[in-house]
Amino acid sequence: MVVVHQKNVVSEESTLARNLEPKCKQCRREGEKLFLKGEKCFTDKCAIERRSYPPGQHGQKKGRLSDYGGQLREKQKIRRIYGILEKQFRNIYKSADRKRGVTGDNLLQLLESRLDNVAFHMGFGSSRSEARQIVRHNCILVNGLRVNIPSYLVRAGDTIEIAKNAKEQLRIKSSIAAADRRNFPVWIEMNVTEMKGIFKSKPERSDLPATINESLVVELYSK
Ligand code: SF4
Repeated sequence: MVVVHQKNVVSEESTLARNLEPKCKQCRREGEKLFLKGEKCFTDKCAIERRSYPPGQHGQKKGRLSDYGGQLREKQKIRRIYGILEKQFRNIYKSADRKRGVTGDNLLQLLESRLDNVAFHMGFGSSRSEARQIVRHNCILVNGLRVNIPSYLVRAGDTIEIAKNAKEQLRIKSSIAAADRRNFPVWIEMNVTEMKGIFKSKPERSDLPATINESLVVELYSK
């Protein structure tokens, strides 16, 4: 049975729209590792380790970005990290802006609370895109109920687990093992043997990468 909790969904995802740009190229464009390709990102085969300049004929030319250019780049980078398309990202931003508190913090917390992102942090997929696929393929239970919407917002205290019929999938087993070796984030309590985790709380800003500058996105969208 597929259970859809509409009130927890910031915006419905199109099943057709996808960013088809090669993943490593996206990292090179942003000049840093965005960890889009699973295990490869942790090896010396990572394209950023080899060529850390933007792709294309003029990639190695140095140029200074305008303020607007910097804001735009940061927004693209965050979108790429979380695998969100433009329109959906703007909707998430609007929700963040409507909430009480600091808009930038709200934005990151909304992105971090997405089911595909939480599933990724629990190691159910080796990358966010793989975790999203696992969610779409009905492999995830939230508090015991099947949820197949990647943008579903997980709440503090929710239990996320791999459904019984997916527990033998080798790719899920191996990505949980790899995530376990790297340690899970502090806001997640994981039971590796049972393939189950608790989203203890929304991450604090200090728990998230300092390389993200969400205030540039706020500046961009506040114009
Ligand atoms: Fe980015 Fe991973 Fe490709 Fe490295 S291997 S460039 S981190 S997607």
